[in-house]
Formats: sequence, structure tokens, C-alpha cells
Amino acid sequence: AKTRTIQTVNPATGQPGRTYEEVSTGDAKAAAAAARKAFESWRRTSFAERSAVIRKAAEVLRRRKDEFAALMTEEMGKTLTDGRAEVEKCAFHCDWFAEHAEGYLANEQVDVGGGEAFVTFNPLGVVLAVMPWNFPFWQVFRFAAPALMAGNGALLKHASNVPGCALAIEEVLHEAGVPRDLFRTLLLPSSEVKALIEDDNIVAVTLTGSIAAGRSVATAAGGVLKKCVLELGGSDAYVVLEDADIGAAAKICATARMVNGGQSCIAGKRFIVVRPILEKFETAIVEAMRAFEMGDPRKEGTKLGPLVSEKARDDIHEQVEKSVANGARLLLGGAVPDRPGAWYPATVLADVREGQPAHDAEIFGPVAAIIAADDEADAIRIANNSEFGLGSGVLTGDLERGRRIAAQELEAGMSFVNDNVRSDPRMPFGGVKHSGFGRECSSFGIREFTNIKSVQVA
Ligand code: NAP
Repeated sequence: AKTRTIQTVNPATGQPGRTYEEVSTGDAKAAAAAARKAFESWRRTSFAERSAVIRKAAEVLRRRKDEFAALMTEEMGKTLTDGRAEVEKCAFHCDWFAEHAEGYLANEQVDVGGGEAFVTFNPLGVVLAVMPWNFPFWQVFRFAAPALMAGNGALLKHASNVPGCALAIEEVLHEAGVPRDLFRTLLLPSSEVKALIEDDNIVAVTLTGSIAAGRSVATAAGGVLKKCVLELGGSDAYVVLEDADIGAAAKICATARMVNGGQSCIAGKRFIVVRPILEKFETAIVEAMRAFEMGDPRKEGTKLGPLVSEKARDDIHEQVEKSVANGARLLLGGAVPDRPGAWYPATVLADVREGQPAHDAEIFGPVAAIIAADDEADAIRIANNSEFGLGSGVLTGDLERGRRIAAQELEAGMSFVNDNVRSDPRMPFGGVKHSGFGRECSSFGIREFTNIKSVQVA
């Protein structure tokens, strides 16, 4: 059979980049068998041995930070500044799990009223990771560092537009001393994921991506009764209350919206504002969003680079136009610049309501949607009226009120008061509803791919 190739495209220019050869399903299955074999030794290594390797991975990441940031810029348009920060975050994450995995997975003694009883956490095996392009390094390390520390093996099927990043990640882990067969990158089309999930050498699957991809992966995993963790989309709501500092709130909302050019699952997407402060908030967020000027992603200080592809840009523009056609008011941006590449400006829509894509769907780009609410209860109702439940925020001058709404009212996996939602290795990360299930990071994340085993000794 003829080998298929992948051609990367630089989103800033529309120019073709490098080409890569895809692997066959046969090769992928052979890699799964080899990984399974490597796992049988890795699972018996000590935490100290694994820590040394994962710490080394952090070192390699820091040493090659500029190179990896440039690779992300070339393949998916991330600004160099953001790319460097992303690589640093991966290194911090590796160090965190190198240090804390042993504690997270320490045996738990249980008093069952006689004899000895404890819970122990055994690794599961080889996990297939299907990952997206938007944080090409972070998404993978978020999963891989804890999974490897727990004693598992992994195969990576990365998004097809970031093959260079996918191979670079494999290189980092191998250079750090992860056994060659234990972690492999497979340049494989998504049509072959099901065959790999069904392979006997794969024990579980984790996917970060869209609802559609999540559904097919969960269906395939369900068919063979294998565990899956799904980190899917989001349409994060930020509730802005009348006692908020409007200027500060608008800046937090704009920052939340513009993470990675708006291409983040936990980007703030819906800003739900109570009417008494609506007009003032609209003015303030337009000012804050205007500061994200488009520019060369390679230049220091650029706050908004290109989007991932012209196709993605066209889809986003269509969502904006449909929203306006259905009654949204365009306050900023909303026009496709006349230049090659995947460019789209910071955009603000007001009067957003049901029946508009800006209200009903996830806009994966730099478009802020403002939705009016009557009061706190109405704002919470609107925030929860979504198929998603990933992140969420509350902006208020009353921290007690903020704490109550964040902790008890918002249907989301994460709720931040007076700040924008961010992932952190020390806190669980994940969603409810169609944002997925299972958690990454913290003790909850590392335990997802373990056998939580009860042991009793009479
Ligand atoms: P996507 O199309 O779902 O792609 C994600 C990954 O899934 C890629 O590796 C892709 O491979 C693969 N894939 C796509 N369809 C598949 C299928 N039917 N079966 C198996 N694998 C499949 O997602 P995207 O559009 O690139 O990313 C944006 C979405 O991801 C947004 O909804 C965003 O919110 C979500 N996301 C969520 C998180 C989170 O942590 N919750 C983080 C980032 C992004 P190919 O590239 O080869 O198609």
C-alpha cells in the first residue's frame, strides 16, 4: 500500500511547510505490542527511577524551549511568547509529578475492624492518547507525565496538523530516558483510532478534543469495555454581577476569552452581565478586547496571532455572521482581513441570545459574546443553560457571594472567582455534561489510569 503523507501549513502565511509520512495500522498495532512488553518492565521500576526520568524530561523541555515554541508557531500559529510559556508549564508539570506521584499513589490504610486492609494503586497498562492541536505540548504532557509516573505506557495519536510537535514530544521523552517502546508517537489518521482502541494491547484511552471525536472514541471504548477519559469542548460562562469592579472584570473576561487566540477549551466564551451594569461593561470589554491587536506571532509582544487554519477562521466568521443575522449587535471586529493566512480580529457581540451560534455553540476563536441577565438568579440560569460544563467564572465585589455561586451554583468542573480559569497540575481539571468525564492533574488525574485495588490480609 502507498504511504499517506501529512502536509503542514503555516497559518500565518498559508504557505505549505514540511511533509511527514503516516504510519500504517499494522505498524501501530506492532507499536502497541511493543509498548505492552515495555510496560511489563516499567511497571516494576521504583518511583525514584521514574522520577529521575520525568525530571530529565523537564530539563530537556527547558533547554529546547525556543525550538519547540517556534515549531508550534509554524504548525498552528501560536505566538512565540505563548509557546515558550507552554513549554515552561509542561516542565513544571513534569517536575510536579516527579515529586508528588509517589505520595498521590501511596497505599491507604483502612480500618475495617480487624486484620489489615489497604488500598493500593497499580498501573493499568498502555493507554492510547488522542490529543488536539491547540496546546500541542501541554495537552500531551498533562496526560503523559502522571501516566508514566504511575507506571503506565502510552501511545500518542496527535492532531494531524501538528506532526512535528508530536514527534518532538516523543524525542523529549526518549532523550529523558523513557524506554523507546514505552512511549511512541504514531502519525495515524483519526479513522484508525477505533482499530487501536480495540487492540488487546491497549488498556484504556484518553481524548482531548471535540464532542464529535469524544463520542466516537467513547463508542469504540464502550464496544470493547475499556476505560476512557474525555476532555471535550466548553462554552465557559462568566457571570458579571452589579457589585463587580467593571474595569477589572472586563479585563479578566477579555483575558479569559483571548487565551491562545480564543482557541482554548477553557476560554471564557459567554459573558453574562446583569442589566444595571450592562452598558458600562460593554464599553469596558470592547476597550479590553481592542488591546489584542493582530500581529506576527514570531514577534515579541504580539497578543493575537493567526488562527489555526483558514477553514477554522471561515467557520468562526460564519458563526459571527449568523449571530448578527439573528439579532446580535457587533461592537468590535467581525470582518475578515484582506491578507493571506488564517487571520481574524478580536470581536465582540452584544445582545446575544438563544438561537444564535454565539449563544448555543462553542466559538473556538477570538469572539466574546455578551448576554444580558435580569439578576443573579437569572445569570446563573443562563450560565447553566448550556450543553457544556467545563470552566466558569464569577465577577463580584463580594467574595462570600462569589464563593457560594462558584462552589454551589455553576454546573462546571471548575469555577473561578474574580480570575480567569486556568489549568494547574495541583488542581483537578475536567468537565461535566458534554464537556466530558474523568479528571486530569492532581491526585484525581493520576489515579484515573490505575487499578484502585483493595487488599485485605486476615
Ligand atoms: P478534534 O477535531 O476533536 O481533534 C482532536 C483529536 O481527535 C485529534 O487528534 C483528531 O485527529 C482526533 N479525532 C477527530 N475526530 C476523531 C474521531 N472521529 N475518532 C477518533 N479521533 C478523532 O478537535 P479540534 O477541533 O482539533 O479541537 C477543538 C476542540 O477540542 C474544541 O471543542 C475544544 O474545546 C476541545 N478541547 C478540549 C480541551 C479540554 O481539555 N477539555 C482542551 C483543548 C481542546 P485528527 O487531527 O487526525 O482529525
